[in-house]
Amino acid sequence: MSSAAPQTIETPLDARRLRGDFPILAREVRGRPLVYLDNAATTQKPARVIDALQHYYTHSNSNVHRGIHTLADEATQAYEATRDHVARFIGGVKREEVVFTRGTTEALNLVANHWMLHELGPEDKILLTEMEHHANLVPWLTVAKSTGAQLIYLPIDETYRLDMDKLTGLLDETVKIVAVSHMSNVLGTINPVSDIAQRAHEVGAQVVVDAAQSAPHLPLDVDALGADLVAFSAHKMLGPTGVGVLWGREELLGRMEPCQFGGEMIEWVTYEKATWADLPHKFEAGTPNIAGVAAFDAALDYLEEIGMEAIHEHEVEMITCALDRLRDLGGIRIFGPDTFEQRGSALSFEVEGIHPHDLSTFLDTRGVAVRAGHHCAQPLHRKMGVPASTRASFYLYNTTDDVDSLCSALQEAKEYFRI
Ligand code: PLP
Repeated sequence: MSSAAPQTIETPLDARRLRGDFPILAREVRGRPLVYLDNAATTQKPARVIDALQHYYTHSNSNVHRGIHTLADEATQAYEATRDHVARFIGGVKREEVVFTRGTTEALNLVANHWMLHELGPEDKILLTEMEHHANLVPWLTVAKSTGAQLIYLPIDETYRLDMDKLTGLLDETVKIVAVSHMSNVLGTINPVSDIAQRAHEVGAQVVVDAAQSAPHLPLDVDALGADLVAFSAHKMLGPTGVGVLWGREELLGRMEPCQFGGEMIEWVTYEKATWADLPHKFEAGTPNIAGVAAFDAALDYLEEIGMEAIHEHEVEMITCALDRLRDLGGIRIFGPDTFEQRGSALSFEVEGIHPHDLSTFLDTRGVAVRAGHHCAQPLHRKMGVPASTRASFYLYNTTDDVDSLCSALQEAKEYFRI
């Protein structure tokens, strides 16, 4: 666990060397070297994160915030050290504002279903964008249904960016919540969240940011972003599954009611009533994913040592190369901005004449792992005019060799399916 300022190893990042830190990247799939391009779904883990999990269970396994024996103390220290680390990682916020959840989905559900449910009425509006992942859409659908609040959507334009000209017409004092993804998991578009947040605040709305795709890839300063609540998942940023973060402004989290009740979230309990613990513990009922949180610390160390700017620069290089190469192949429709500006490394596309599921199955025979389907964004795909797409998504350990492997496999697929 680290408390010192991060050291930067190098810029630009040396992906070929970093690959050696990820044991799984040495394996073969169907007799071919693994080409892992499904990073928007989840990322691979460096040995030090795997070691941290093992170390925790081998040396310090205990429950947190309860016992006063040595192991309990070590487990609590490891768990709470990660909270401090997350607070630094997202721009130096207060540790009380960092709540551990199971992931982005749980964090957004907590905000929508356990807080907004009580704050919204039929006269209110919730503003989303047309590119939201179901995790930042379905909870709001259910809130709208229960409260009578109206859902409105900021549209995307023909370049697959948000149509910011339409924002003025949508924002007024009836909008109480603006919930927006920082980076689309389908289009790769990086949204101008700070601009949106500033304008949302002018009409008194709260801003909820789904940072599941941006926290792993961009420097994240939640305060500079102008957000009120931000959610992200550890497993998409080299950490273990089952760990997520909800950051919220202290004043807002203070007003929110807990959503789960039981051990360790209380201050005082009698047979008649209970009062809640201080932030952030009132939101962390029961035994959390202690090992996962402890190992997330190692993932954050790793990201900081490389540097988030360097990671983004590397991905710009990957995406520029991939966009060029896919264009050269021909017969490919790209869903998302076709230049690297304001763009992340999720690249969805359609190969004319081949269903994404068939394509993904074919690519797997060549060792190439991509995602096929609607990527938990069905309304967006409907808007794009397709039921599904194929998505390649890059991370810090991908190289231009991976782009070459993807493109060769796509060329083979076109020949195989006689396109
Ligand atoms: N939001 C976005 C933009 C995502 O890409 C994802 C996962 O793919 C989620 C939310 C949900 O994340 P999780 O499944 O870790 O809760």
